[in-house]
Amino acid sequence: MSERTRTRPAGHTSAPTNSRLLRINGTLDPHVHLRGLEWSHKGTFASETAAALAGGYCAVFDMPNTPPATVNETSLQRKLIDLGAQARCDYKAWLGADPKRDPNPQELQQLGQQVCGLKLYCGETTGTLLIDRTLMESYIAAWSGPGPIGLHAEGDMIQHFIEAVARYGKVGHICHIPTKAAVEQLQAAKEAGVKLTAGVSPHHLFLTDRDLDALGPKAVMKPPLGQSTDRDALWEGLRSGVIDMVETDHAPHTWEEKQQHKPAFGVAGLDTCLPLMLTAASEGRIGYDLLPTILADAPRAVFGLAAADAESYVLLDPKSRWTITAENLHTDCGWSPFEGVSMTGRVVETVLRGRTVFKDSEVLAEPGFGQPL
Ligand SMILES: [Zn+2]
Repeated sequence: MSERTRTRPAGHTSAPTNSRLLRINGTLDPHVHLRGLEWSHKGTFASETAAALAGGYCAVFDMPNTPPATVNETSLQRKLIDLGAQARCDYKAWLGADPKRDPNPQELQQLGQQVCGLKLYCGETTGTLLIDRTLMESYIAAWSGPGPIGLHAEGDMIQHFIEAVARYGKVGHICHIPTKAAVEQLQAAKEAGVKLTAGVSPHHLFLTDRDLDALGPKAVMKPPLGQSTDRDALWEGLRSGVIDMVETDHAPHTWEEKQQHKPAFGVAGLDTCLPLMLTAASEGRIGYDLLPTILADAPRAVFGLAAADAESYVLLDPKSRWTITAENLHTDCGWSPFEGVSMTGRVVETVLRGRTVFKDSEVLAEPGFGQPL
């Protein structure tokens, strides 16, 4: 890793409230699939934003691939109405590129003002939004922001995306970056001045393909788990600043759906991400001082939010030891690939706009308390 790519600020303070607890202002997970709408049997905006608050997040950005897919004004308004009625934490929605039609720049410009970004699905995943390389380029060319263009992809398509973002002078965000090769492509593009950011998901940081035998369908997601060399490159990328942030890719499915012959892709992540990151810090895999950057400040900056206010924050006990169980999850799906894993670090309290919304394992915000960002 060259010095040029070491973009992390030194000495970032996490403003501990006393000698024991850590505090992070304005935690934001920019990549969740809250379900709701026609997939409310998997989880609802109320249940999954409860998991967000229990996991220490003040705000989440919801992905567009839950039916009806968020690809136009009608579907966006339908989602925003339900989010407004049910969300317990603050929120914003992604717009999805519609595989059924060419982009309309005027329509995108208008929708762009209401969403956090445009999501392109250029690799196999859940839902019906898969687009080919030609349509990917058309949407990149047509998007006028202000949010970035998010990419779901694996393999060669990541480099095609980087080249198209550079060619059209747009701002791109590589979601859940999965491999060492992709980190190297990202680093080279950043060094060349391409306006790119990236997020990494906790399952890719904490699990590898060696966990597949033991975890079975609980380890099935897109992009799939990589090798230990991929995992190590993701940690190094996060430490150095080549990877900008952590995003959970929270994607609950019922246990029945995961046990099918072809298990549904995706795992829940909101409840467990901050404890996992605290545990990694306790083991020296990342500095405690980087946690506010990768869990709040970087996502807020990339998605154009104001700096975190002091009224919305999470308090974390970095020393608390406990074990993740299905019973202590708040997500409706009720399972996690991290069940049985020992944690060093716990979410103590989440405060949103001055009000305690999670404390002592209890979610205290009612549905509808969340505000649009
Ligand atoms: Zn996702």
